[in-house]
Amino acid sequence: MANPAVENLIIIGSGPAGYTAAIYAARANLKPVVFEGYQMGGIPGGQLMTTTEVENFPGFPEGITGPQLMQRMKAQAERWGAELYTEDVISVDLSQRPFTVRSEEREFKTHSIAIATGATAKRLNLPCEHQFWSHGISACAICDGATPIFRGVDLAVIGGGDTAAEEAIYLTKYGSHVHLLVRRNELRASKAMQDRVINNPKITVHWNTEAVDVFGEANHMKGIKLRNNQTGEESELHVRGLFYAIGHTPNTQLFQGQLELDDTGYIVTQHGSVETSVEGVYAVGDVQDHEFRQAITAAGSGCMGAMLAERWLSVNGLVQEFHQTETEAAAPEAPKQQATDPEASFDLASTHHEGGYALRKLFHESDRLIVVKYSSPTCGPCHTLKPILAKVIDEFDSKVHYVEIDIEQDPDIAENAQVTGTPTVQFFKDKELLTELKGVKPKSQYRELIQSSL
Ligand SMILES: Cc1cc2nc3c(=O)[nH]c(=O)nc-3n(C[C@H](O)[C@H](O)[C@H](O)COP(=O)(O)OP(=O)(O)OC[C@H]3O[C@@H](n4cnc5c(N)ncnc54)[C@H](O)[C@@H]3O)c2cc1C
Repeated sequence: MANPAVENLIIIGSGPAGYTAAIYAARANLKPVVFEGYQMGGIPGGQLMTTTEVENFPGFPEGITGPQLMQRMKAQAERWGAELYTEDVISVDLSQRPFTVRSEEREFKTHSIAIATGATAKRLNLPCEHQFWSHGISACAICDGATPIFRGVDLAVIGGGDTAAEEAIYLTKYGSHVHLLVRRNELRASKAMQDRVINNPKITVHWNTEAVDVFGEANHMKGIKLRNNQTGEESELHVRGLFYAIGHTPNTQLFQGQLELDDTGYIVTQHGSVETSVEGVYAVGDVQDHEFRQAITAAGSGCMGAMLAERWLSVNGLVQEFHQTETEAAAPEAPKQQATDPEASFDLASTHHEGGYALRKLFHESDRLIVVKYSSPTCGPCHTLKPILAKVIDEFDSKVHYVEIDIEQDPDIAENAQVTGTPTVQFFKDKELLTELKGVKPKSQYRELIQSSL
């Protein structure tokens, strides 16, 4: 649907760069519109949604998890009046002013744009990768490491940087042993990370080693075919899980031919600034940063983008100011505590439930459709899916049951349900599994599935 008004600023992306730009622009009364993204170039909240502890973001001496940090940035942007849409931008037209930005569901005209689309994890495209994707292969150890298929078995991580080192260390919590496959004869990870990997008795580093393919039976990955790139020698490594940590590609497809990009696809910005080759368009965060790629540098450049946009709008007489009332800008309330005794809090008539006790009761005693979401606390996509699915479920209030299972608290339930990654959503009716959806899907897919299974 076309919106007749022209926005001050549209921010594309919701990592640290996007939310910081949103906070600054909203505080400057610009009422920015933020497309948080959904699937095309990562998930809402960006790369930090796939990590556990963030120990170097100033202001959190005790550390904070990536998803918590991003949740706080989002809340701050919302508090000051940013307008958020959890949608991917599918096209941008920079050839005419005001610019046009479109998602599947809406179109906006805007005077200025901050591009904060970050970067996406790379895949190796091994011959059998597709067969075992989500059945042994994952690009996010932090999201999937806790699932039953990876517990107590040998695992492998491919990569030589900080991410690979962090993931290998993290996986030692679940796997019996972790093999780190490194293409070169050295790690690119920071010295501190290298030491933690090399000194960990549960990690073996395989130098000069490349994956040629993966193998297994049906949906169960059993190992990796390896080649030593110095000797040419081929071998097999028997592992039940393979995690890619081989870097990222900047999400700049939307801007090809419209903005100056460098040889590797990063947006070119002016030295010491975030201005792009088109006036009024700013590139912030990892999408323009080869060098630092940190949450704090992304946030810093997001701030620069918002301030430059505001200045540019003012100089050109384009600013339209929006003022919030005091109530609108009130600090958000602290989250309410959950009831702890599952038996006492269980109510067969209610739609929303949590935990294994509720699932068992509903499975045996209810004739409604049961929608079960399996998640783990450190899984960023799980945090993304939570409000999306909850909204769809609200449309079917009293017609379905919705049960949230934390697989760390209820590992037996996850194992019985053969959950191989999070988030996974299963649909049960009359004690039968109808179907399951892995990862984060478009809202319409959950809606249609529920509708057709009632
Ligand atoms: C495992 C891991 C651990 C890390 N740990 C740390 C750490 O401890 N400390 C630290 O400082 N840094 C860490 N980093 C690096 C840090 O996460 C990045 O530098 C930072 O997230 C970059 O922020 P960004 O806002 O530029 O982009 P991203 O975080 O990449 O976010 C990009 C956003 O753009 C959205 N998007 C993409 N395409 C579209 C589209 N077409 N339409 C709408 N939206 C779109 C995505 O959905 C996403 O919301 C880590 C990274 C990883 C992968």
